Amino acid sequence: MGAKTIVVIEDNALNLKLIVATLTRGGYRLFTSTDAETGLNLVREHLPDLVLMDIQLPGMDGFTATQRLKSDEVTKDIPVVALSAHAMPSHGEKAAAFGCAGYITKPFSTRSLLSDIEGYLQDDTCRESATVA
Ligand code: MN
Repeated sequence: MGAKTIVVIEDNALNLKLIVATLTRGGYRLFTSTDAETGLNLVREHLPDLVLMDIQLPGMDGFTATQRLKSDEVTKDIPVVALSAHAMPSHGEKAAAFGCAGYITKPFSTRSLLSDIEGYLQDDTCRESATVA
């Protein structure tokens, strides 16, 4: 089995740098984008094991981008984990409504980011049931 692939869509340069450093150390293969449109193309091209999606992005926001992935037969089963700031408590509910598998609030510790991502990747139950349904 090769390394698991993650597409990271995050427009904040500092956060992106932190995420890339952390997930690279965790052994993941990464593709990154700072906007939703480019990120969606990366997802369609590489069909990653997981997408880490910032909610607040320039242009198309993370909710809309997630909805696009969920309405596409080819990408609908890829778990999307939303990233959002603590200052936006309504985002958690909205993320679930838009089909996100999980929700990570910023700022995050690098340790918790890695364990959260591992958890979402191990939880195959919803992906399998989604595929059967
Ligand atoms: Mn952002």
